[in-house]
Amino acid sequence: MNIYLIIILAILVGQYLLGLISDLLNVSNIQEELPKEFKDVYDKEKYKKSQQYLKDTTKFGLFTSTVSIIFLIPFIVFGGFRYLDIVARTIANNQILQGLIFVGIIVIGGTLIGIPFSIYSTFHIEEKYGFNKTTPKTFVLDIAKTLLLVIIIGAPIMALVLWFFMKFQGIAWLYCWIALTVIQIILTFLAPIIIMPLFNKFIPLQECELKDEIETYANKENFKMKGVFTMDGSKRSSKSNAFFTGFGKSRRIVLFDTLIEKQTKEELTAVLAHEMGHYQKKHILKMIITSIIESGIMFYILSLFLKNEGLFHAFGISPEHMSIYAGIVFFGFLYAPINTILGIFANISSRKHEYEADKFSVDTYGHEDAMINALKKLSVDNLSNLTPHPFTVFLSYSHPPVLERIKAIKQLKIKNYGLCG
Ligand SMILES: [Zn+2]
Repeated sequence: MNIYLIIILAILVGQYLLGLISDLLNVSNIQEELPKEFKDVYDKEKYKKSQQYLKDTTKFGLFTSTVSIIFLIPFIVFGGFRYLDIVARTIANNQILQGLIFVGIIVIGGTLIGIPFSIYSTFHIEEKYGFNKTTPKTFVLDIAKTLLLVIIIGAPIMALVLWFFMKFQGIAWLYCWIALTVIQIILTFLAPIIIMPLFNKFIPLQECELKDEIETYANKENFKMKGVFTMDGSKRSSKSNAFFTGFGKSRRIVLFDTLIEKQTKEELTAVLAHEMGHYQKKHILKMIITSIIESGIMFYILSLFLKNEGLFHAFGISPEHMSIYAGIVFFGFLYAPINTILGIFANISSRKHEYEADKFSVDTYGHEDAMINALKKLSVDNLSNLTPHPFTVFLSYSHPPVLERIKAIKQLKIKNYGLCG
């Protein structure tokens, strides 16, 4: 048996098992007793409901990953990709077009297969817990818009990468890296202005008591208020959130309408100060730079595998039919574990950023209790897991568990005011 096929199957099974172990540990870490910090916002019933929600979503996630591995392994072993390659070669005779067809079938096919799962998750699980606000119309439009974006943005990028590798061979990875870095920066800038408004309405924060409170704070911190928006998150879900996005003129802090509905003006301002912390501490910039370095490494390693006969053979493709487009897809399977490891590092850094942003909020706005209450309400409204297993946190949490954030904020308070404060 081909060594690359063995490696790829081992990677797929390994990643599946890693997810399974994490899920099992996470669910087994459920504790019946309500953490004392949450006694004022949760009752026994509702806390139980949050744990049931965790069980239901975990079960469904496991079902989805099981189905996908059961489908994918025979697809690889029995030459599914070879068949797709034959289809692409029959339809087109230019390598770029063949590549767009080959990758297009994989992406669109994958999206279509995912639809029933997405329907079940949105209209059954989320509905059962009272979260779902998505209408069938919004659901269909979301899929259509996403596919359209993939075609408008993804296809030209794919064509460009294929062109570089066809034209420049050895040095192509460097050109790909430079071009994709430029595109990534442009997209990060444009996303809040052009792409995100395709899915949601963003309205500058209206005149109200909240605006006064935020304005007073923002003036003190020299932050331009025109960067604060509300978003109609209620169009899809009753869950609430806030985030910081974009840079330069496109930078903005976004508060979900569902958040504004449920929190006091002090809590909302504390959350906004947290988001401002992400901006002031240049977290987005750090993330962009990290991902630029990562993509450079990825393109370089990719260039080493594009002419590897063994890798193509693993997918049933003979040496005379080796193509750049198929090479990119096959390389994706080999790269998956590296991606997982990079993801773990990205999460470690993101969790560190969250503590920094919490600290920024407390240091500049000063209302520790409002920040703690905001976090508590967010957890309750979203039925978040209060006691995730440390392994799950290590593997996949971009934010620290809420109890640890509360503990860190309380420690800041002690530091700032002394034990009596
Ligand atoms: Zn944050």
